[in-house]
Amino acid sequence: MTTRYTKEDNPTIFGKILRQEIPSTVVYEDDKVLAFKDIAPQAPTHILIIPKEHFTDLNATTEGDVNLLGYMMTKASEIAKQEGIAESGYRVITNIGADGGQEVPHFHLHILGGHKLGALVGE
Ligand code: 5GP
Repeated sequence: MTTRYTKEDNPTIFGKILRQEIPSTVVYEDDKVLAFKDIAPQAPTHILIIPKEHFTDLNATTEGDVNLLGYMMTKASEIAKQEGIAESGYRVITNIGADGGQEVPHFHLHILGGHKLGALVGE
């Protein structure tokens, strides 16, 4: 089931970060997205990019989200450049649902880099 929350009633941890109810280390922000350091980094550079608009995951998207999704991918490359990992290489991932390993039900992209990354799928 798809639920879209407003910024005010988004109950996820990322909603709390967007409302600045809990702190985060922000590396980029504009009117559409917020990017901040992952609290439990799985690589030397581990940034999360979230849309300010809430939707759960990629399954919740429609053609109406095409511009935002493209925007987020472009921002991922800009943030990789900003963080100094664009030339050495990095990975952009979005997890979906239980088997995808998604913990936070607010769509996000992981940007991972800063060393040679391991296998795409661990197990
Ligand atoms: P998922 O597993 O949903 O794809 O990724 C959620 C990510 O959010 C995890 O990598 C996790 O470490 C990160 N995370 C969870 N809670 C917090 C938090 O309170 N602050 C920050 N900065 N990251 C968080």
